[in-house]
Amino acid sequence: MHYDNTMRPQILFPLYTPTQSLPGIGPRAKKIIAELAGETLISLCWRLPTGFINRSRRVKIADAEPGTLATLEVEVGAHKTPRPFGRQPYRVSCHDETGEMELVFFRAHADYLRRVLPPGKTRFISGTIQAYQERRQMAHPDYILTRQEYDEMPAFEPVYRVTAGITSRHYAKIARGALKSLPDLPEWLSADWMSEKKWPPWKEAVLKAHEPQDEEDLSPSSPARERLAYDEYLASQLALILTRQWMRRLPGRIFPKAAALREKAMSALPFALTSAQEAAIAEIDGDMGQPMRMLRLLQGDVGSGKTIVAFLAMLNAVEAGAQAAIMAPTEILARQHFKTLLPLCQKIGAPLTLLTARQSAAEKRRVLTDIQTGMARLVAGTHSLFQKHVAFRDLGLCVIDEQHRFGVHQRLTLSGKGRKSVDMLVMTATPIPRTLALAHYGDMDMSALREKPPGRRPVATRALPLERLDDVVEAVRRAASQGRRVYWICPLVGEEGEEGADAALALTAASDRHRHLSAILDCGAGLVHGRMAGDEKDRTLTAFQQGKIQLLVATSVIEVGVDVAEATVMVIEDAQRFGLAQLHQMRGRVGRGEKDSACLLLYRAPLGETARARLDIMRETEDGFRIAEEDLRLRGGGEILGTKQSGAVSFLLGDPAAQSDLFARAHDEAARILQEDPQLKSERGEALRLLLYLFGRDEAARTLRSG
Ligand code: ADP
Ligand code: MG
Repeated sequence: MHYDNTMRPQILFPLYTPTQSLPGIGPRAKKIIAELAGETLISLCWRLPTGFINRSRRVKIADAEPGTLATLEVEVGAHKTPRPFGRQPYRVSCHDETGEMELVFFRAHADYLRRVLPPGKTRFISGTIQAYQERRQMAHPDYILTRQEYDEMPAFEPVYRVTAGITSRHYAKIARGALKSLPDLPEWLSADWMSEKKWPPWKEAVLKAHEPQDEEDLSPSSPARERLAYDEYLASQLALILTRQWMRRLPGRIFPKAAALREKAMSALPFALTSAQEAAIAEIDGDMGQPMRMLRLLQGDVGSGKTIVAFLAMLNAVEAGAQAAIMAPTEILARQHFKTLLPLCQKIGAPLTLLTARQSAAEKRRVLTDIQTGMARLVAGTHSLFQKHVAFRDLGLCVIDEQHRFGVHQRLTLSGKGRKSVDMLVMTATPIPRTLALAHYGDMDMSALREKPPGRRPVATRALPLERLDDVVEAVRRAASQGRRVYWICPLVGEEGEEGADAALALTAASDRHRHLSAILDCGAGLVHGRMAGDEKDRTLTAFQQGKIQLLVATSVIEVGVDVAEATVMVIEDAQRFGLAQLHQMRGRVGRGEKDSACLLLYRAPLGETARARLDIMRETEDGFRIAEEDLRLRGGGEILGTKQSGAVSFLLGDPAAQSDLFARAHDEAARILQEDPQLKSERGEALRLLLYLFGRDEAARTLRSG
């Protein structure tokens, strides 16, 4: 087998053909499929059914239960054509020896119906039985088949989650087409492990996973599904280790702990470091002092004081003559870093530069020149800006804040860019339990700030049923009249940023609430939501930050990390619909200043068991690490990272939180494989390269020398 190490192996090409090459897919379906699954055949293969229909269940008309899916053998009777321009549907009556029923068609094509339903002939029809004025009917049958066609029809049909515009049946047909292109691939799993688990080979597993015939087949622990999940874990872990291997191969540099700048900074700080901060910076000093590249994740709850730790790390690079950058996911957060760090930088004489999209062309040119010549020693900016046209004279350390907004891949691309190897410090405000940290960050070194700076006041957290809305509004009015600032988070309807009805609904809910509150409160009220243009959103957030408005109504993603010390009230509407981690993140927006803060969780009764448990935990604790563990326990892991919203790597087929043993096994196996065959050159290694490409880990595969 030949591999060009910049290219996907040829044997996988069929899987990467565009979906439009499939039979039965027009431009409209193509667009819907692209949104649901993706653009190429493989995306359809990875999207497994969520159920199945057993079409072999044949019944007589008299026994057909309304609401069930049934297949019937009938004789076609009279066609009743509706009057032109009327609203009546087209009806075709049918019967068997037990009774009569009607097939109903709205906006029907009479020619077509006369062709497929000739009176007097036997037809097999399949679809959902309905009751209509004591009679049975079926609107738009899924299938109308001759006996011969019926004999060829699949007995079981997989059901896929679909959206408006496509039926599951149509989707299933398209998916079936995609599955035809599955190549036979050499086995990458060990034979022992396969036979121990009784797993099928890869191709068989994919096919089987798409043909569920009983509940067992749908379970994540079915052999087919489990194998595919394991494949995915193995690919992800191989990719993470490979990437790290590769990054470590780059020549490292030594940044000793800054002496002069560190001392100046410490005496300029109005507080002493907490012991958690001391420990974290000591670990970072240790990494930076080694001739190896630092790859460290700093976890710490909102407000745990990560910024200052990052700043001290940046000074190590700066004192050694290099540059250091801190990147935030949004413009407003980048400006916030700049504002926080500027006074410190001025006191200690280290020039800090801000790079943002909002600067004038001339200003930006000046900043870019400063970065290029090395005049700018510390740079704060947004992630997107750093990716484009920014050339550093000598970047030594890159700090990425609020990392869970970026995908791991993005991060790796970025860190691969530097001419010399750049130390990386990634900060996340979402504490992650160990299993998940492993899944998402692989072998990154980790530091955690588990202790908060002293003097934090607890946030009084209460849960109230929606019936108490008026009381809550009253409380908000009181808070506003005392000059406090209030966040009001609106119901989570769908995934934020997801195109479609859900996002539109979320927006409607937020703007309705905004209108309602603006009308009855006399403090200024602003609205931010996911579909707003970036600068409009920033303008509103800034107005809130500066106190020009006191109430901020928002859909569920108010900017993570926005620091408004004067904000002391957080109202979360429909709190039962949010995950714990999300609730915790949102509550973290308040309780930052000296005043007492409150968080009001408005819920819609009755509460389910899990929802109640979540709200209880929220009232009990503010410890993000504990909350993360509880979250994992209650709901599984996806939402801890807020994967959908963040674009962080999520798993297509597996759920590491629910399958932590399997996941840990894949991690160990990946490590063992690469220990024995670091370049994946053996026969099995070659097969594993295919696995990497299959799961889109092309970048990691490219770090390998060609086989
Ligand atoms: P986060 O971890 O969310 O990024 P920040 O770094 O923004 O947290 O810190 C939150 C606040 O805590 C800031 O106002 C910062 O000045 C303050 N802070 C940080 N460390 C300490 C400390 N050791 N003692 C007191 N206040 C601190
Ligand atoms: Mg922060």
